[in-house]
Amino acid sequence: MSKVINVTIWNEFRHEKTVDEVKALYPDGLHAYLKSVLECDEVKITLAALDDGPEHGLTDDVLNNTDVLMWWGHMAHHEVNDDIVEKVRERVYMGMGLIVMHSGHYSKVFQRVVGTTGNLLWGANVKEIIWNINPTHPIAEGIPSHFKLDAEEIYSEPFQIPQPEEQVFQGWYETGFVFRSGCCWTRGFGKIFYFQPGHETVPTFYNKYVQKILANAIRWAAPKETGYQKINYAPCVGDQFVSDDELDFFKK
Ligand code: ZN
Repeated sequence: MSKVINVTIWNEFRHEKTVDEVKALYPDGLHAYLKSVLECDEVKITLAALDDGPEHGLTDDVLNNTDVLMWWGHMAHHEVNDDIVEKVRERVYMGMGLIVMHSGHYSKVFQRVVGTTGNLLWGANVKEIIWNINPTHPIAEGIPSHFKLDAEEIYSEPFQIPQPEEQVFQGWYETGFVFRSGCCWTRGFGKIFYFQPGHETVPTFYNKYVQKILANAIRWAAPKETGYQKINYAPCVGDQFVSDDELDFFKK
């Protein structure tokens, strides 16, 4: 069996307590629903929420044992403690994967990790087609050329993000708007995936392709072994980096 991937799903978990239609879709929170569909022998999932204490459920112990952090927030981005945001950034730069969903584009974590505002245009809930524009990408495995969502909140360009290193999906709305709906970056040793579908008042997370994309993204973003020591500073190595044996190799 391959190595178990430890995932923490962080959810703001406010709408589900206060808005009836959201409560009806996700009575235990959308993070708990996602756990129920994403957890398996290979993926072990911990839940964390904004109101889980001063560290929002992201204690050092939880963060240090998280391979991939998934993030959903919307109405209370400003309530997330800056110290926690900085800890998440540091963990990502040291190799923890980060999957930011939907309105997480405006979270402090996303802004801090990728370095831009995440500004975009938004609007009503309308039909959306998600185009798979990078079919050989690991996150697109098993996803058809396109699939339909009966309703998603319009998110439109210009999306103020750094140029994605890879774009996997493109959203097209029935009213004409377009959006880079699945984007990848690396920061330090960490891999980041932003995925646009996931508005709280529509059943997007029940869609089997959305679930498959998130499952693929977990495996893609999980830290891999590297031939390098992972460092988070800039040490001086003097004038000789290689060993004496390696120097002999160059001299022969
Ligand atoms: Zn939304």
